[in-house]
Amino acid sequence: MQHFSIWSLLRNSLSYHEGWQKQWRSPEPKREYDVIVVGAGGHGLATAYYLAKEHGLRNIAVVERGWLGGGNTARNTTIVRSNYLWDEATQLYEKSMKLWEGLSQDLNYNVMFSQRGVMNLGHTLQDMRDIERRVSANRLNGVDAQVLSPGEIQAMIPYINLNTRYPVLGASYQPRAGVARHDAVAWGFARAADALGVDIIQNCEVIGIPRENGAVTGVDTTRGMIRARKVALVAAGHSSVLGELAGLRLPIESHPLQALVSEPLKPIFPTVVMSNAIHAYISQSDKGDLVIGAGIDAYTGYGQRGSFHTIEHTLGAIVEMFPIFSRVHMNRQWGGIVDVSPDACPIIGLTPVKGLYINCGWGTGGFKATPGSGWVMAHTIAQDRPHPLNEAFSLDRFYSGHLIDEHGAAAVAH
Ligand SMILES: Cc1cc2nc3c(=O)[nH]c(=O)nc-3n(C[C@H](O)[C@H](O)[C@H](O)COP(=O)(O)OP(=O)(O)OC[C@H]3O[C@@H](n4cnc5c(N)ncnc54)[C@H](O)[C@@H]3O)c2cc1C
Repeated sequence: MQHFSIWSLLRNSLSYHEGWQKQWRSPEPKREYDVIVVGAGGHGLATAYYLAKEHGLRNIAVVERGWLGGGNTARNTTIVRSNYLWDEATQLYEKSMKLWEGLSQDLNYNVMFSQRGVMNLGHTLQDMRDIERRVSANRLNGVDAQVLSPGEIQAMIPYINLNTRYPVLGASYQPRAGVARHDAVAWGFARAADALGVDIIQNCEVIGIPRENGAVTGVDTTRGMIRARKVALVAAGHSSVLGELAGLRLPIESHPLQALVSEPLKPIFPTVVMSNAIHAYISQSDKGDLVIGAGIDAYTGYGQRGSFHTIEHTLGAIVEMFPIFSRVHMNRQWGGIVDVSPDACPIIGLTPVKGLYINCGWGTGGFKATPGSGWVMAHTIAQDRPHPLNEAFSLDRFYSGHLIDEHGAAAVAH
């Protein structure tokens, strides 16, 4: 793998940047692998990378029906934080946060992780009680968290209108939280995994999951049968479709979730502001666009687009809170498909089919977990048992009733 540095940049500038290697290969699928990961989003690519890096496996394929990083990874609003309520969730997301903090160096790829802080606004007395409870729980888990007063919020964003239809009574704030460059995360993991020998096979849809005697034997794809004793489904919005191919009925609903960006502006928005109550969140990308996210569309479906009334509601709330943006033009709007679980927490672990592993249910908030999710998933596959960090997130919890209800701390209510 060509190393990126100021020196390689200078060296390549002398040859008009024509000497850069391809970032990853496009191999033909082999007949058999030790592990096949289905889905080349951030989570699938991170799983393959940590399998190779931490567990020494080399005979790994990631199969992707479209192009790598073209799913939710490319469509999300890139908010990264770890201030969840319950111990299990906080520790998982905090593991991820620690990996984010060294990710650019680890991958030798600038994922543009920018720790500019994230605010979650409180609009009612009950919101504020919940915020105080969550901030205390975060501190007990060693996560940086504080409660901001309306005055402190205004000091950070002077033009915020605190006396709206949903008055702002305060906020939780995590200073180490922030945003990252979504495409770079997928590309960085892909490049590093490829360098460790992982085959990334694009335009290869999984259409069947054959089994013998209760154990998986590989995947049937649009490019033929590929055999493996271990298969991991890491396919976000299509998890239930893939689960069904293996005879599993997953407790997942797939919903559209949409976002939009404005024309680029000069730097004006210093942090990330989220409001669960009004279903809106906003930040500013390094390019200058305002990045705005909405709540999920209420219906289920696989169309990568959302409905107008959801966007109208979100923009109404944003303009009321930030009247200064009322004449900003919106450039683009798009949708992804999020896999929502009943307790707003992911499912990461083994399945009743031997050799088949599942990673899904991240709903509206899985981007922030990309490195941590890949790290625990790799451990689970390599050791054939969950890591202590993902033990509580098994599929079994929907039978045993040990749910981890994170609805209050999930990105947008679902
Ligand atoms: C609009 C929007 C905003 C969001 N904002 C945030 C945010 O601010 N912060 C945050 O933390 N999270 C956010 N999320 C959620 C986040 O994007 C997802 O949880 C996360 O990206 C999931 O990553 P993934 O790698 O599992 O999925 P994906 O990137 O969707 O990857 C799954 C891959 O599986 C492939 N696949 C599916 N079926 C098959 C098949 N049969 N065969 C082969 N391949 C298949 C797909 O093509 C896809 O590339 C947002 C999501 C959306 C849609």
